[in-house]
Amino acid sequence: MIEVKNVTKKYGNFVAVDNINFKIKEGEIVGFLGPNGAGKSTTMNMITGFIEATSGQILINGIDNVKHARKAKKKIGYMPENTPLYYDLTVKEFVRYMAELKNVSKKDRNIETQKVLEETGLVEVQNKLIKNLSRGYKQRVSFAGALVGNPEILILDEPTVGLDPKQITEIRNLIKSLGKTHTVILSSHILSEISQVCEKVIIINKGKIVAVDTPENLEEMVKEKNSIVVIVEDPENKMQEVKNNIPEILEVDLKRESEDGTREYIITAEENIDLRKKLFKELPKLDITILELKKLEVTLEDAFIKLINTEVENEVSGKSRKK
Ligand code: ADP
Ligand code: MG
Repeated sequence: MIEVKNVTKKYGNFVAVDNINFKIKEGEIVGFLGPNGAGKSTTMNMITGFIEATSGQILINGIDNVKHARKAKKKIGYMPENTPLYYDLTVKEFVRYMAELKNVSKKDRNIETQKVLEETGLVEVQNKLIKNLSRGYKQRVSFAGALVGNPEILILDEPTVGLDPKQITEIRNLIKSLGKTHTVILSSHILSEISQVCEKVIIINKGKIVAVDTPENLEEMVKEKNSIVVIVEDPENKMQEVKNNIPEILEVDLKRESEDGTREYIITAEENIDLRKKLFKELPKLDITILELKKLEVTLEDAFIKLINTEVENEVSGKSRKK
């Protein structure tokens, strides 16, 4: 269990992380999601113990990670944002060196190194110099460095940055499989990364936590339960008239007009009113042909933007932050 309690980090007068609180249970895969500069790397660095919080406390399995830094650090494998690798070592030499740093006993070092090389798919390149590897492989080597010594907790800062789609899929699968036996925290400013891998999302913006929830619940939170997407053929352009027939409609919004003459509208009603039945009945009366009609799906992307915007609005109006 990781407990982050009232943690603040200031650089001079600048507050990079502002009194954050959260817990991560054993075995969870958690995503830190937020735009660049949000405070993700700073928070991760404080959990690993590489930088100290200005105030607050971080407990790793109940152990204060400043007072008992060595003990806490042993439980954590860290893959930093800008992979600072030893370019003139071979892959194997690097992993072995990391094993040494992590206090893996001399007699276990070779076995541990081979195990990690296998886990990260590096066996074939183990004797190559790191500097001669592709970006994707360098990322894997960095990953291997985090894994060696079998720490309970893996902290991965933007593990897929700079990778091509194939490499991203590979790293993602690796994270998912490691998530079965480890607690994993990973950060990203890309939503799809987080929603595909993580079971819990912590959204950070400007050093503050905006929301903590499952990807599904976050989508649910911002869902417009009352919006309908409808694709129609409306040769006489009568769509706006449907408002006269269904008084509960608040808005009829043209989203898209295709070359084949079909139009896509978002129709919004007052809260908790499902317009589907009424639309099915009323649109044909206006000689409008319905090609498709469904409730509006909200993506995590929408949730993210909405939550971050709520934060900004509240700041401007001086209201307290939404929990
Ligand atoms: P993220 O990882 O979410 O992109 P960071 O944690 O790297 O964000 O940075 C949060 C904020 O703190 C940014 O505004 C950044 O410029 C600032 N910051 C980070 N490190 C330092 C530092 N060593 N000195 C001063 N400001 C810093
Ligand atoms: Mg960062």
